[in-house]
Order: sequence, then structure tokens, then C-alpha cells
Amino acid sequence: MKKPFVTLEQLQEMTKTYPTPFHLYDEKGIRENARKLKAAFAWNPGFKEYFAVKATPNPTILKILHEEGCGTDCSSLTELMMADRCGFSGSEIMFSSNDTPAEEFVLAAKLGATINLDDFTHIDFLKDTIGYIPETISCRFNPGGTFSIGASEEGFQVMDNPGEAKYGFTREQLFEGFKKLKAMGAKHFGIHAFLASNTLSNEYYPILAGILFQLAVDLKKETGCDIRFINLSGGVGVPYRPEQPANDIAAIGEGVRKQYEAILTPAGMGDVAIFTELGRFMLAPYGHLVTKATHFKHTYKEYVGVDACAANLMRPAMYGAYHHITVMGKENAPCDHKYDVTGSLCENNDKFAVDRMLPEIDLGDLLVIHDTGAHGFSMGYNYNGRLRSAEVLLKEDGSTELIRRAETPDDYFATLIW
Ligand SMILES: *Cc1c(COP(=O)(O)O)cnc(C)c1O
Repeated sequence: MKKPFVTLEQLQEMTKTYPTPFHLYDEKGIRENARKLKAAFAWNPGFKEYFAVKATPNPTILKILHEEGCGTDCSSLTELMMADRCGFSGSEIMFSSNDTPAEEFVLAAKLGATINLDDFTHIDFLKDTIGYIPETISCRFNPGGTFSIGASEEGFQVMDNPGEAKYGFTREQLFEGFKKLKAMGAKHFGIHAFLASNTLSNEYYPILAGILFQLAVDLKKETGCDIRFINLSGGVGVPYRPEQPANDIAAIGEGVRKQYEAILTPAGMGDVAIFTELGRFMLAPYGHLVTKATHFKHTYKEYVGVDACAANLMRPAMYGAYHHITVMGKENAPCDHKYDVTGSLCENNDKFAVDRMLPEIDLGDLLVIHDTGAHGFSMGYNYNGRLRSAEVLLKEDGSTELIRRAETPDDYFATLIW
């Protein structure tokens, strides 16, 4: 059973100050999880997690992660600006973008961020844009084809399609790219790859690591490049459904260590640092979208209208993603009512749940939509003139802090020319 990290009483207190809907984050959970990740990779002295800012671009969240030893992974101008303003600098910033505008390379270079190139042609583009090739540079690898991990013991399979993904260098381009970058002045190299999203298998990172470690050994042999880090990027998932098993980050760290000791250490590369760029794993479970039941509709189906909509959480509308819902105060009531839980957008996909069995809902009930801490608020938009909600932090001492105010109509109108 999925349990909210707040009680009904806490939420009732909060809604006196913060009107629904709002995104709520659990500082305690965020910190504990970040520490588990760090412990899982403590065997690697250079290990660092670069939190994928796009998952939860909020300064307070970024500062909490900074305190836990994380850097940031940025992919746009404003993400770079936010990382800078939050106090991240130099090698604490990874810049992994694609189809990159020139001004973003300029800022990344100015901040001393580690630039992770997405494409062979970006080598010349970067040189032309900033005038030099940085001493430390990274390249993103795409092996093509399909990537799969056979059904695990738990029966979950990982399948993704790198060959259809727009990201990264081919293997041939990577070898040519490293040689070219070295000739242009690069001294230290990194390798990055992101082959599968939201994986629920302790095998994903170890298998990816095995591929990248072998690639690093081959690259070093053929190009003589000094490979300093391997970036396993994001993709470690979270169980959105209550019946799914969570990843065991300690087992994942051990799995990566085994590959490291089997491949890198014997090749004399036992000083290579492991980086991660996790977003979802770091934040998703520690965020709730808090909303209120505002309408009921009985037509061909039973609908519960809530005051949040897809503009606050796009994943169900965009991917048909499952997000668990708890009707607060009715955690132990039987789930004997079938509902579609809908928002107010004039789009029929604005449904947080379809045919979901839930306890009987009454007007004014508070609903918690789970696992919205990553790719939740951040994917928000203003369709139908809907305004983005506030973000609230539940602190370790049980108090709350507004960490982003809700948008007002003035914000919505601010860019208009009348
Ligand atoms: C989105 C993204 C991540 C984070 O992915 P998660 O699935 O949230 O862990 C990491 N690196 C890059 C380059 C990304 O685009």
C-alpha cells in the first residue's frame, strides 16, 4: 500500500494557509534518499550525483540537494542560471543538452560547467561558439538498436529504443570525436549514456555500466584519451503503482561496483569517477499533488472533478501514466467505487485516473496524488489560461514553507502586448 507522507490533519492545517491545489515536498524523504544513494556508491571516491534540474526546478529543493553533496545537471539556459544563482559552480554543474543554442554553451563555459556534447557536429559548433575546447569534456553515447533487460525475478522487463532516440554519438563518431577533441586541446574526458527511462530493475545501471566501462577501455586503448568519469545519467525509476517493487539502490551500487572491478580496475582505470544524473529517483516519491474534490458528475461514467488539472501534472494526460491516489482520511475504507478523476481542461485526456477503484468520495475531500515530486510541477503549462500552483516544503520539523507562490492572472498576462 502506498502511504502519503502527510496526515489528513496536517493537510487540513496546511490548506488554511495554502489553497489547493499545491505541490508538497517532503524534505526528510529527500534527504534520506540522497544519503542512501551516496552510501550505495561510497566505494567510488569520485562519485557524484548531478540532480536533473528539469525534474524539479526549485531553488529550495536544489539547495537541499546541494547540502547533501549533489551537483546539478542542466539542459537549458534558465536551468544553468538557476544552478548558478543557487550557488552551484564549476564542476558541480553538468550541462547535458541537445540541439543546443549557442548562448547556452556560452553560459555553460562561463560557469565552468562540464559540457556533455550530444553530437559530433557540436564539437566544431562549440569551438566556433566559445572559441576553444574546454580541457574537460564529455560525450554522449548512443549504441543504437534496442536495449532490453529480460524479465527479472519480479517479472518486470526493461525495453527501450536507443535507435529511435535523437540523443548521442554513434560508436564510430565517439572514437572520431575523442580523437578530434584531443587534437583540439581537450585533456580529460567523460562518457555519458541514457538508454532506458524509469527502469524498475536493479540490473539497469550495472548493465549500462558494463557497456560504458568496456567502451571506456576501448576508447582509451585506441585514442589514448584520459577518461576521468563515466556518467550513468538518469533512468533509475520509481514504483508508481502500489504493486511494483522499488529499486534497491544499495544493490544497484553493488552491481555497478562488480562491473567496475571486473572491467575498469584490471585495465588500470581504477581511478575513474562514477557520476549519475538522476531526477525521478531523487524526487518523485517525495512529492504529492494535493487537490480537493469539487464536483461530481453522473453520466455514462462516474466522474469526480478536482481543482487540479493536467496543467499541474501532465504525465497522466501525456503518457497515460499511472499516479496513485489516496483519498485522505479514507485510507482504510473499502475501494468500492469506480471513478474517473478529472481536471477542468477542455481536453478529454485531462484525467488523473480512469476507472480507478477508490473509497466513496465526498465533496471537499482532500486527495493526494502520489509520486509527483519529479516531472510534476516542472511539466506544467498554461493551457486554457490555467495557472501554475504553489509549491510547499514540508520541513523535517513538521513545519511548512512556501517555496514557490502560485501564479496569479498578472503572471499570465505579463507577456501580453495589448
Ligand atoms: C531527464 C534527464 C535525466 C533525468 O532522468 P530521470 O529519468 O528523471 O532520472 C538525466 N539526464 C538527462 C540528460 C536527462 O535528459
